Amino acid sequence: MYDYDLLVVGSANADLVIGVERRPAAGETVLGGDLSTHPGGKGANQAVAAARLGARTALLARVGDDGHGRLLLDSLRSAGVDPSGVLEGGAPTGVALITVDPSGDNSIVVSPGANARLTPADVRAAEGLLRASRVVSAQLEIPLETVVEVVRNLPSGTRFVLNPSPPRSLPAEVLAACDPLIVNEHEARVVLGEAAGADPEDWARGLLAMGPRSVVVTLGAEGALVHDGSGAARVASVKVDAVDTTGAGDAFTAALAWRLGAGAGLARAAGYAARVGAAAVTKAGAQESYPTAEEVGQP
Ligand code: ATP
Repeated sequence: MYDYDLLVVGSANADLVIGVERRPAAGETVLGGDLSTHPGGKGANQAVAAARLGARTALLARVGDDGHGRLLLDSLRSAGVDPSGVLEGGAPTGVALITVDPSGDNSIVVSPGANARLTPADVRAAEGLLRASRVVSAQLEIPLETVVEVVRNLPSGTRFVLNPSPPRSLPAEVLAACDPLIVNEHEARVVLGEAAGADPEDWARGLLAMGPRSVVVTLGAEGALVHDGSGAARVASVKVDAVDTTGAGDAFTAALAWRLGAGAGLARAAGYAARVGAAAVTKAGAQESYPTAEEVGQP
């Protein structure tokens, strides 16, 4: 009945990474290593993660008519994402300029570029994609009014999943649509504001009181906590040697959204997502680190 298991609405960025001995201070120039360019952005990451697991996935996003946009489209196509919802033009492709020092600390400047031009009108024009999708997933690297428009145009029966990253306070109509709202500790604290409690179960209860039908709190190497509105459950993490946690949250969210759409309960879907997130941290990079279905095993 649905053409897509998952429609991701979100950002697509080129991540430009330079290793440096020391990050520059104001007014200073430092020489770094060779530039490496990686496809990224939370929306594109989620779409690639889901497609690599075997989900029929589409992405609604905007890139520039430039080389970085083509890099992103190539990455999406080779993962098996349907790129028909990726709009081109209006501004340069979003870019994250990342300098990393030998201790792994980084400084990042993000130019949202075309991501900031993904408008509510673009969402209305993608009505066909929305109607064809069992689950819709969004993040906040695109304008909030665009996410609001997604919620307003959700077909009945289509599930909505939100990772509010980068975090900000959210309108009630967005919160009410989330099933689940997926947050890490920092995102939970920002969305909750002064009402934030001391531990993950407090955050989940506090967030549920704001309107979502369910909440997932991701806890890095500690796994996750899920709350379906009637009770909380811990999801164990998988013990792995972590190499690079970049993009683990995006892989987790994509896997969770896909399995929920396939009919899994929240705890079971989060258990699978935790295996996907753990696999993603065992390799460097974001999209390059995402596992295939065979690597993760049975959902
Ligand atoms: P990011 O913003 O870095 O993409 P995040 O803060 O949104 O990540 P995390 O909580 O770090 O999200 O990771 C998402 C999930 O991935 C976790 O809930 C966990 O299941 C898994 N995971 C992350 N880090 C590890 C780790 N070191 N070992 C095992 N599993 C991990």
